[in-house]
Amino acid sequence: MSATDIVIVGGGVIGLSAAFHLARSGNLRVTLLEKGAVGAGSSSRAGGIITGHLWSKTGVEARKISLRIFHELSEELSAYGYEYQAAGCLNLFSGAAWRERERLLSLYDACDVPYEIIDADEIRRRWSMLSPQDDAIGLFDPLGGYSEPDDYVPALARKCRDLGVDIREGVTVCAFARRRERVTGLVADGELLAADLVICAAHSWTNRLLASIGRLLPVKSFVHQRYLTAPLDQAAKLPAVNANPLEAYLRPAKGNRILIGGETAERPEIGTPSLAFDMDQLRAPTGFSDSLRDRVRPLLPALERYRVTEERVGLISFAMDGEPILGAVPELPGLLLGAAFHSGGFAYNPVAGKLLAELATAGATELDIAAFSPARFSAAATEAYLDSRLRQREVFSRRH
Ligand SMILES: Cc1cc2nc3c(=O)[nH]c(=O)nc-3n(C[C@H](O)[C@H](O)[C@H](O)COP(=O)(O)OP(=O)(O)OC[C@H]3O[C@@H](n4cnc5c(N)ncnc54)[C@H](O)[C@@H]3O)c2cc1C
Repeated sequence: MSATDIVIVGGGVIGLSAAFHLARSGNLRVTLLEKGAVGAGSSSRAGGIITGHLWSKTGVEARKISLRIFHELSEELSAYGYEYQAAGCLNLFSGAAWRERERLLSLYDACDVPYEIIDADEIRRRWSMLSPQDDAIGLFDPLGGYSEPDDYVPALARKCRDLGVDIREGVTVCAFARRRERVTGLVADGELLAADLVICAAHSWTNRLLASIGRLLPVKSFVHQRYLTAPLDQAAKLPAVNANPLEAYLRPAKGNRILIGGETAERPEIGTPSLAFDMDQLRAPTGFSDSLRDRVRPLLPALERYRVTEERVGLISFAMDGEPILGAVPELPGLLLGAAFHSGGFAYNPVAGKLLAELATAGATELDIAAFSPARFSAAATEAYLDSRLRQREVFSRRH
């Protein structure tokens, strides 16, 4: 039997993870096309924070698998310079937001997802650098933590290459090719490339490519940014923290630094970028790093003493219902999609790649992912959503 040709569009963590899982699963020829360098999209800009405490049953079950794979990859990719940082993830809440989150605890129990509820005193006792408000409530995820994208992305790409994946950088896909209903390949740099299956992991560019076959997704993209501080005198003893009341997050970072990030809630969506668009063109609003530092300082007083030295700006994208989009498009056989992972695509990537590989090789997944299906949106709802103009505050609030 001849090998199946699978072509993946996009060399971010979703495309790389799909390539990794496919390359391990048998008689497949896997090619990955990336218009820049691998990681050039959001993946190299991510905070890398990972938690299992999500909002939907499918999300919670999927993240459980992601966390397991992150721990396994820590061993498998150690020779490539990657290590999962199992520092835990502290999800902070206050008032009404906690009452809303509290309702999800029965879901976490049913899915056997571990957590601890800890008050402000206990948070201060465990991590003396943190100074939460007295009414803060912490939902601690002992399996959560973070990865350094600067280690993870190149390690995964190298591993894929070693497994035989043909990664081609600097190649722009401009359209999908279709015979009757079936997607039969794509056009890249003016050349037609035939494939038995195409996996599109092109993040915010997905609708540009889908437009070539007349099918769009209800997805919106927003600018998002994170920063590193100058090195501290010694390593920060901290978990990853989703500081929801501050609309911010933080974690320790390589080189004794601290990473902080946060939303620009009033910023309008940016629309679907052109194929030529490069995330290096994005800028955070003037003065945003100072205002973010001021916002986070009451929780982490040490920030007073350290300059913010490095800014990375990228895009996060949200589907109309806030859940990721992953799966086949029923009316377009030959095509699988993985998109709209909100600000949690880094955390989702191990399971997203595994699910895409299962769909590619078996046509089905072990986990029920109907809630992620591209087919869940009607054409009319998609059109209405794409016609609206929204600010980030008006879409789902999803932090990792
Ligand atoms: C500042 C910031 C902080 C974040 N922090 C976190 C975090 O702490 N935790 C977390 O889980 N998530 C976080 N995220 C979100 C996370 O980065 C994304 O969800 C994730 O990287 C999406 O991965 P991707 O592979 O889908 O997209 P990308 O990494 O953007 O990859 C898509 C790739 O496709 C390529 N491409 C597009 N069109 C074409 C084409 N036509 N031809 C060829 N190639 C093409 C692009 O060049 C790009 O490299 C953060 C995002 C940002 C911006």
